[in-house]
Amino acid sequence: APDFAGKTALVTGAASGIGLAVARRLAAAGAAVVVADFNEQGAHDVARSLTGGGARAAAVRVDVTDPESVRHAVDFTVETFGGLHLAVNNAGIAGATAPTGEYGVEDWQRVIDTNLNGVFYSLRYELPHLVAAGGGAVVNMSSILGTNGFAGSAAYSAAKHAVVGLTKTAAVEYAARGVRVNAVAPGFIDTPLLQGDEDQRNRLVALHPQGRLGTAEEVADLTLFLLSDHASFINGSYHLVDGGYAAR
Ligand code: NAD
Repeated sequence: APDFAGKTALVTGAASGIGLAVARRLAAAGAAVVVADFNEQGAHDVARSLTGGGARAAAVRVDVTDPESVRHAVDFTVETFGGLHLAVNNAGIAGATAPTGEYGVEDWQRVIDTNLNGVFYSLRYELPHLVAAGGGAVVNMSSILGTNGFAGSAAYSAAKHAVVGLTKTAAVEYAARGVRVNAVAPGFIDTPLLQGDEDQRNRLVALHPQGRLGTAEEVADLTLFLLSDHASFINGSYHLVDGGYAAR
C-alpha cells in the first residue's frame, strides 16, 4: 500500500461517496487530510471520524462554484498542515437529465459551474502551493462520460470531457515543476449521487460487463495509486475504473 506519511492532502466533496472513501484511505496511509465539502456538518463528521491513532484530519466548508471559497479552502489546508502535496478535485453533481434540445439553461449552468469550473478553480489555487511544496500530485474526478456521450446528460458529459482537457493541459504545464495531474474515470458507482428507482439502477448495472456497479473504495484504490510514487511516470492521462463499461 502507498505511504503518504508527511504529506498533506485536500479532497473536495469528501463528505460522501468517492471523496469520503479517498479521504479515509489517505488518512489510513498517513496523510494529513483536509475534508472539504459544501456539506459543512458532513465534512466535520468525516474529519472527526478520521482523526485519532496518529491520523490527522480537518474539515473546511467549500463551495467549488465560488473561486473565493476555493481559495479559502486551499489556504486553510496550507495554514493547518503546512503545505499542500496532494489534491483530489472530486466534488460534483449529477444534475438534471433531459435531451439536449430540452436541457434547462440554468441546469446547464449549475452543472458546468460545479463539475467544470469547480475543477478549474481548485487547480488555480492548488497548483502554486503544489509547486511551492517542491512538487505533488493531483487527481481530477472525471467519468466514463468524459469520453462517452450519455442520453440526458449533456452538461455532465460536456463538463467531464472538459476536465480531461484541463487535466492534460495542467500536466504539460507543471510536469517540469514536479507536479503530476491525472484524471480518474469511474463507471457508474454505488454512491448517493446515483438517483432513480430499481429499474434505472438495473439498466445502469447492465452497462457494465462485470454485472454490477462499482464501489467508492474501488475508485479510491486507483486514485491513491495515481497520487503515490508508484505512479511516478504516469502523467496527464485518463484512467478508467469501470468494470469493462468502455470496452463494450
Ligand atoms: P456524492 O453525491 O456521494 O458526493 C459528492 C459530494 O460533493 C457531496 O458530499 C456533496 O456535498 C459535494 N458537493 C456537491 N457540490 C459541491 C460544491 N459546489 N462544493 C463542494 N462540494 C460539493 O457523489 P460521488 O458519486 O461520490 O461523486 C464524486 C465525484 O465522482 C463527482 O465528481 C462525480 O461526478 C464523479 N463520478 C461519480 C460517478 C458515480 O456513478 N457515482 C461516476 C463517475 C464519476
